[in-house]
Amino acid sequence: MSDAAILAEIIDASDAVLIGAGSGLSSSCGYNHYHWTEAFLKHLQPFRDKYGFKSPMDGFYYCFPSLESQWGYYAEYIRAMWELPDGDAYHALRESTKDKDTFMLTTNVDMQADRCFPSESTRHFQGDFAYLQCRQPCHDELISSHEIVQKLHENLLPDLSIPAELVPRCGICSWPLVPWIRDDTFLEGEKWEEEADNHRRFLRRHLIENEDRLLLLELGVGEMTPAIIKLPFWELAMKNENVTYVCINTEKGSAPLHLGNRGIYINKDIASVLAETCHLIRR
Ligand SMILES: [Zn+2]
Repeated sequence: MSDAAILAEIIDASDAVLIGAGSGLSSSCGYNHYHWTEAFLKHLQPFRDKYGFKSPMDGFYYCFPSLESQWGYYAEYIRAMWELPDGDAYHALRESTKDKDTFMLTTNVDMQADRCFPSESTRHFQGDFAYLQCRQPCHDELISSHEIVQKLHENLLPDLSIPAELVPRCGICSWPLVPWIRDDTFLEGEKWEEEADNHRRFLRRHLIENEDRLLLLELGVGEMTPAIIKLPFWELAMKNENVTYVCINTEKGSAPLHLGNRGIYINKDIASVLAETCHLIRR
């Protein structure tokens, strides 16, 4: 039996699926934020040439000489994410799980989760580039980045900066806006709390109020932040006999041994496995 056939069988036998998505899921779609690939170079090549960024995210954390040049890059990077099509692996995930109650917990900030699942079924633990926040922050509101970055794109200057008067600013305190991405001023406000509540309710519904068969599907989670997805998944699987844990990752590894046949580790390309799984479920 292939790995995809085993996964298809487990999904079929589950009542609900909790997906834990890390950067490897987006990378498997060609949307790698930590190495240059064609998808982002198409939009950001001039910035790489000018500043020597090693990756799109390297540019995000770069110390720019001015807000105007920083927002020149932010605008093009964020706009690229709005423009890129839905990732194939995300699409396969949606199709494979559409008969199940599904929730996606993700550390990815690239807008892909909400393209494939309704927003009440996603939790963006580290934020998302679809939104901006006040840099202080002085208030609890998130602002969509969509129209703002489009306007900045149309006004990008030849030196890759934007005009000073177009730097996005908070409507209340006039401080600059920043992308809603975790750092020392990250806003864990109303939206973040609401998503956390939805996540808790999902777990309560399936593990406490009902004795459902729950699949924990960990995809492309790296080693930088194990406390967000990997360790909680291991603990949930250890404490609940109705839970099965499946991990797909291109890095070598293994599922915790004490899970026995409730723990499966697939060391393959995520997009390929999910495409085959989707095909098997939908045929
Ligand atoms: Zn403000």
